[in-house]
Amino acid sequence: MTAPVRTRSSADLIAAEEPVLAHNYHPLPVVVARAEGTWVEDVEGRRYLDMLAGYSALNFGHRHPALIDAAHQQLDRLTLTSRAFHNDRLAEFAERLAALTGQDMVLPMNTGAEAVESGIKVARKWAYEVKGVPADQATIVVAADNFHGRTTTIVSFSTDETARTGFGPFTPGFRIVPYNDLAALEAAVDETTAAVLIEPIQGEAGVIIPDEGYLAGVRELTRRKGCLFIADEIQSGLGRTGRTLAVEHESVVPDLVLLGKALGGGIVPVSAVVGRRDVLGVLRPGEHGSTFGGNPLAAAVGTAVVELLETGEFQLRAAELGVLLRNGLTDLVGRGVVGFRARGLWAGVDIDPAIGTGREVSARLMQEGVLVKDTHGSTIRLAPPLTITGEELEGAIGALEKVLTQGA
Ligand SMILES: *Cc1c(COP(=O)(O)O)cnc(C)c1O
Repeated sequence: MTAPVRTRSSADLIAAEEPVLAHNYHPLPVVVARAEGTWVEDVEGRRYLDMLAGYSALNFGHRHPALIDAAHQQLDRLTLTSRAFHNDRLAEFAERLAALTGQDMVLPMNTGAEAVESGIKVARKWAYEVKGVPADQATIVVAADNFHGRTTTIVSFSTDETARTGFGPFTPGFRIVPYNDLAALEAAVDETTAAVLIEPIQGEAGVIIPDEGYLAGVRELTRRKGCLFIADEIQSGLGRTGRTLAVEHESVVPDLVLLGKALGGGIVPVSAVVGRRDVLGVLRPGEHGSTFGGNPLAAAVGTAVVELLETGEFQLRAAELGVLLRNGLTDLVGRGVVGFRARGLWAGVDIDPAIGTGREVSARLMQEGVLVKDTHGSTIRLAPPLTITGEELEGAIGALEKVLTQGA
């Protein structure tokens, strides 16, 4: 990386945002100007190890050469057609994404929230047309402490008051049960239930990993009761946990899988619903769509992402380096860490509240050249690019140790 190009300082740019940018985020005070691989550089040329990776949108690191190359080539040829016409990139993207995930069909969208909305619409239509639920009676069962996005319908079934308050009236038709509780799910699912929608690992909640057998139990229950299983793999999927999909840890195949974040390679927003033909097949022309969904640039980048995952290399790295992450965190238990949950290159770390909030620890780590994000309270989330080296990972754990044990 070469010298920074900006002339305005970080402090100046941060101050300039305040009056003109909606205050719906509270970023750490770092202004990133460039990035490559696992490293980002601020406007003053300071370098930081990226241990958040865009909430898993950057699973392949910043500007992975194969992804940048695919984007450049496509930019020089064709960027947008709308779905009014076919484009020459979409068929291959859909074929390879379906094959990668073991599903039949793909519904391309842009953001994660759109994939969730699309999954909800497909499940409702399936309930009316295939299952025979009376009109407008369909229910979808979700888990407490979920995070599925920010649209009006999605916050309707959030249990996070900050995400909901002030945004009603809400969309009806959702039932909320505790996560990781098959008995509660059993009681909530009835003849009106179109689907059970859950995250295989709850990311925003603090990387909450359900007990072994839960995902297989959800699969068995939904099959037995005749409703769909929708897995939101927007954050857990595409290599993060050491498998292509987190549901693979229990050899589970959901009826619909929601993908996003890393599917766009950190370059463009790309999301998708992938699923069985008899479920996604309920959609007819005009019933659902998106101007940008399935655009040729997105399809080209998405295909390049799928190509990286087809090698299995990234899943393997996440699994192998995940051992290092787990060992490093285990060493910190009792030394500033009160507990943690980890799978692959993904961890929720509960910091001793006496040391500071997750936000305060994140700010101190930033000073040590490591970027992370708190989830809530005293929990921080570690989710580095899957391209991280063992040495870099050890450096990040060393920085965390320093911050936790030296009071920084
Ligand atoms: C980030 C996320 C979403 C929403 O994705 P956006 O692209 O921000 O709309 C949905 N579900 C899960 C599990 C997520 O982590």
